[in-house]
Amino acid sequence: MMIDPFERAITYVRVSVTDRCDFRCVYCMAENMTFLPKKDLLSLEELDRLCSAFVDLGVRKIRLTGGEPLVRRNIMSLVGTLGRHLRSGRLEELTLTTNGSQLDRYADELYGHGVRRVNVSLDTLDPARFQAITRWGRYDRVMAGIAAAKRAGLHVKINMVALKGVNDDEFDRMITWCGAEGFDLTLIETMPLGDIDGDRTEQYLPLSMVRARLARRWTLIDLPDRTGGPARYARIGETGGRLGLITPLTHNFCESCNRVRVTCTGQMYMCLGQEDEADLRRPLRASEADELLRQAILEGIARKPKGHDFVIDRRHNRPAVKRHMSVTGG
Ligand code: SAM
Repeated sequence: MMIDPFERAITYVRVSVTDRCDFRCVYCMAENMTFLPKKDLLSLEELDRLCSAFVDLGVRKIRLTGGEPLVRRNIMSLVGTLGRHLRSGRLEELTLTTNGSQLDRYADELYGHGVRRVNVSLDTLDPARFQAITRWGRYDRVMAGIAAAKRAGLHVKINMVALKGVNDDEFDRMITWCGAEGFDLTLIETMPLGDIDGDRTEQYLPLSMVRARLARRWTLIDLPDRTGGPARYARIGETGGRLGLITPLTHNFCESCNRVRVTCTGQMYMCLGQEDEADLRRPLRASEADELLRQAILEGIARKPKGHDFVIDRRHNRPAVKRHMSVTGG
């Protein structure tokens, strides 16, 4: 079991399998991004070794993310090999966060390998708006992907980043749609990660305000549920669906943080909002045995900071860290 300096057990790792994405969401990336040379990326075999080392150290949940995890070539072979840890019972959950563009193709296979839940990022149900937010996304493909996931038996959670003046008139509609489809919904505050083309202060919408607004229309019953992530949940009386709120700015939940993130080049970030990192690629490549790798992981965990200090306001209108979410893995 890995325990950090603040007595938190680390049982969850989020692994970015690529920094590339087929979308260019305005709050996430600049339109012209420079991606890492492919040779710097960990191979799928190395990613499997890395994830397995975490499982050996007590990790119970792995989330594959990116960039867009499903655009990584042969990604299903990694999902397939990691599935052995589900079958052995050492891993409780293997899941992924996706923009949904490739789900139509992969949903059945994901289910076959033991994946039971996926988070799909969808900020709007309006096709024109979807185009404006994602720049390169195709709404109909995402909708087909979400439908395929549902058909395959995957439990779908929709992640919606709350953006002032962009989609803040759509929460009721999204709640209704998710309720009808049987999907959970999580709203996320926009975080100051990496330079983008626009101004984040203009898009930032505190979810404390949104919750108060929603409570006037919907019956929100607080739930004790934790899914191992940072969301706090409420049941929506009228739809029966679950609403999660991820509020790293208005209220951070760092005291219960149970996770670390690894980039596609094998850098481990102990906190999404801090610069400190631990290089896992060198020890991974230095020896075929896992001892050096385990040691590097444990040394990193021993430096896990207490929390992040995200602020978005006029005086702090710059990224908290230089890395985009697509690098650290959202
Ligand atoms: N491509 C996948 C997807 O779209 O879900 C996985 C990676 S994406 C970076 C993961 C999540 O991070 C998405 O839900 C996205 O909306 C969110 N995200 C990206 N940049 C963000 C930011 N600056 N603040 C809050 N959420 C962000």
